[in-house]
Amino acid sequence: MTSRGLIQKLEKERDLTNAGLVQLIQGLTPDDEKELFARARAVREAEYGKAVYVRGLIEFTNICQNDCYYCGIRKSNTKAERYRLTPDEILCCVREGYRLGFRTFVLQGGEDPWYTKERLAAVIHSIKKEFPSCAVTLSVGERTREEYMCWREAGADRYLLRHETADESHYRRLHPEDMSLRSRMECLYTLRDLGYQTGAGFMVGSPGQTVDNLVSDLRFLQQLRPHMIGIGPYLSHPDTPFAGEPDGSCRLTLILLAVLRLMFPGVLLPATTALGTIAPDGRERGLLAGANVLMPNLSPESVRTKYELYHDKIHTGAESAMHLDELRRRVESVGYCIVTDRGDSRIG
Ligand code: SAM
Repeated sequence: MTSRGLIQKLEKERDLTNAGLVQLIQGLTPDDEKELFARARAVREAEYGKAVYVRGLIEFTNICQNDCYYCGIRKSNTKAERYRLTPDEILCCVREGYRLGFRTFVLQGGEDPWYTKERLAAVIHSIKKEFPSCAVTLSVGERTREEYMCWREAGADRYLLRHETADESHYRRLHPEDMSLRSRMECLYTLRDLGYQTGAGFMVGSPGQTVDNLVSDLRFLQQLRPHMIGIGPYLSHPDTPFAGEPDGSCRLTLILLAVLRLMFPGVLLPATTALGTIAPDGRERGLLAGANVLMPNLSPESVRTKYELYHDKIHTGAESAMHLDELRRRVESVGYCIVTDRGDSRIG
């Protein structure tokens, strides 16, 4: 089948054979690519119109007990300057974000044991008490069912946990022995089961990744049926075991965003910071390939450079109204508009 035929079939049936997906991911001419992005936009607009949802990202701790080989805040990186925001500091970021118009807050961090079940529950509770109309998203890694349940009861609405790769041997290439793909996947099913709007996802171009691995990722996502899918290019960090590995590609990330939009029409799909780091107009191009969410950084200026997952991470802030206006302008320049409601997923 031609690439055009594959694009049409994917839009209509939301699925292709493995061979069809491989051909689509690898075999597009520049014209086919334009067609793929146009179809992804049409599907996104049928679901969400021109709206782009914004989430205020608060990177509240870079202390992590995990040692993922790709990540700049892995525990063995002794060069990372560690920080942890206090519960009060997190609340200040939320207040500032609310003032600027944000109605969803993403609390993301390393797996930091100081933030116990009780301490994080107290933070969630205070946010929901002061701002009941806002959504709270957590992204704090693999924790127990009991912890997830407690945070849900405290008011957390959503949870982001990228599966990173759905292939066992690729997972082993990226992570040390004490981590497992099975436990990551179990966490995702638990989160879904507890009623979180759940986000999975993966890096594009991580070391050792093959096109077959990407197909496995798509198959896993079909099984999980997440509300959100976060993907971004892998970007290397000099103080990790993968220093010197090549970065992922902007183009392949855009193609996968479009493929995801056609396979999962109602999913929330962010144009990530990593995409904005690999190319200055990466996030706008992400929106033009089917993405519909942006996550500007609301962390205090003093810690922003320390949450360095990869080299040269952009530090575009929404800490001032001026920056949000700039973001609004950039989004409008590609024909979309920022909306500040909670922006729930269309997936039940
Ligand atoms: N600790 C939580 C977790 O494991 O989900 C959240 C923080 S973790 C740093 C957030 C995401 O950053 C990871 O899921 C991973 O996909 C991404 N990430 C880490 N290192 C990266 C790199 N070098 N390039 C691109 N993305 C990276």
